[in-house]
Amino acid sequence: MSETLEYDAVIIGAGIIGANLGFEMSKAGYRTLNIDKLPAAGYGSTANSCAIVRTHYSTWSGVAMAYEGFHFWKDWANYLEVEDERGVAEFVQCGGVFVGDDERYTKKVLPLFDEIGIEYEVWDAEALADRLPGIDTGEHAPPKRPEDDEFWEDPPRQITSVVHSPIAGYITDPQLATHNLQRAAEAKGGEFRFNTEVTGIRVEDGRLAGVELPDDSLVLAPIVVNVAGPHSFVINEMAGVADSMNIKTRALRHEVHHVPAPAGLDFEKDGMLVGDDDLGTYFRPEVGNHILVGSQDPECDPQIWVQDPDEFERAITEDQWRAQVLRLARRLPTLGVPSEKKGVVDLYDVSDDWIPIYDKTDLPGFYVAIGTSGNQFKNSHIAAYCLTRLIQAVEAGHDHDADPVKVKMPYTGLEMDMGVFSRNREINEASSFSVLG
Ligand SMILES: Cc1cc2nc3c(=O)[nH]c(=O)nc-3n(C[C@H](O)[C@H](O)[C@H](O)COP(=O)(O)OP(=O)(O)OC[C@H]3O[C@@H](n4cnc5c(N)ncnc54)[C@H](O)[C@@H]3O)c2cc1C
Repeated sequence: MSETLEYDAVIIGAGIIGANLGFEMSKAGYRTLNIDKLPAAGYGSTANSCAIVRTHYSTWSGVAMAYEGFHFWKDWANYLEVEDERGVAEFVQCGGVFVGDDERYTKKVLPLFDEIGIEYEVWDAEALADRLPGIDTGEHAPPKRPEDDEFWEDPPRQITSVVHSPIAGYITDPQLATHNLQRAAEAKGGEFRFNTEVTGIRVEDGRLAGVELPDDSLVLAPIVVNVAGPHSFVINEMAGVADSMNIKTRALRHEVHHVPAPAGLDFEKDGMLVGDDDLGTYFRPEVGNHILVGSQDPECDPQIWVQDPDEFERAITEDQWRAQVLRLARRLPTLGVPSEKKGVVDLYDVSDDWIPIYDKTDLPGFYVAIGTSGNQFKNSHIAAYCLTRLIQAVEAGHDHDADPVKVKMPYTGLEMDMGVFSRNREINEASSFSVLG
């Protein structure tokens, strides 16, 4: 039976960012409703996130936001202000090393670390081998695929230096973290509706009026936020705002593989996050003494852009499994390559410059938190915090396009200029144009 409901704000999506926005907006006094077509919070692309927390980004705003995000994770249980009957997601601060590409790390990232005051060390190959026994410290760049004969050649030289970031780590259960946020939002009056697909955006007199549901039901609200992850472009088209945005979003297929750690190596306890630009991978410890390995999208890897985010190949492919696991085996030579392929396949919601869009749109009342480009799990809270303040300012009449909203971030006190995440920015050439942001 059709019904008409009314809220202050509808949030389309209940992934980590949508749920976090539900919490932040509820705290700010809005009556919110998160609507998700899946059966529970964090069941979309968030479920398959590697949930890595690192501050290595190519721009000041990227580094500053991630550093702020790190403080939220450190303070997670307090931040939630409520207990979840399922327990609280854990931040494992195992530290991380970032290997290769001086242009990216030494010349670009470290001055940003210095400016913001982020702790790091520069290690030589010997220090790396001491800290991570069994690691190969050869320099293999540029990344290649195993089909290429050069992939198998001995590395011509040793790595000269790597950057060690002691604050890096990962969240053990991204779905639980999202459930934590659902409970936190509910405690502030926020509501969630699952198994419900938004099928239309209602516009009246040139202003957003609410969302339409399949059974002719209507949820009226003066504010709607598109936090639909890889479906972001579908929702933007529904709202008729896609053409008016300078920066667009597309869905990109991504495989992450799970392999047991090499025999005799307790990688779960002694391992750390490794961002390996040299071989084109990233990997981290996973529960059960496993290793989780993903691609840094090196040029030699094919990119699979998906036209319909509901229809894509969810099975691991032999080619990408071989490429990633063999790259990992070059770095950890005692790794056994299992015959059974294990891992996950999901979609990144990629913007043109791999930097998110946290913004208003040309349709008054319609906002977006999209283009998270495989790298915004770690920033869900600070993104939600900043977007809530942007929405408050715009709804109070502020012209954010002409004079971008600036937000003082709560833990670091750094000021974030939200114009950086504008839909109408020029492509940010400082970006890595990869998952590194
Ligand atoms: C394989 C993988 C690895 C990653 N690793 C990392 C990492 O290590 N570190 C990091 O920081 N980030 C990482 N990311 C990125 C991070 O996970 C995402 O940026 C984040 O999860 C996005 O959250 P979200 O809430 O925006 O989107 P999602 O979790 O995708 O949620 C969007 C929700 O919208 C719903 N929806 C869509 N359309 C509709 C509709 N019409 N009606 C109702 N509901 C709808 C969907 O069902 C979905 O639940 C990774 C991503 C992937 C895919």
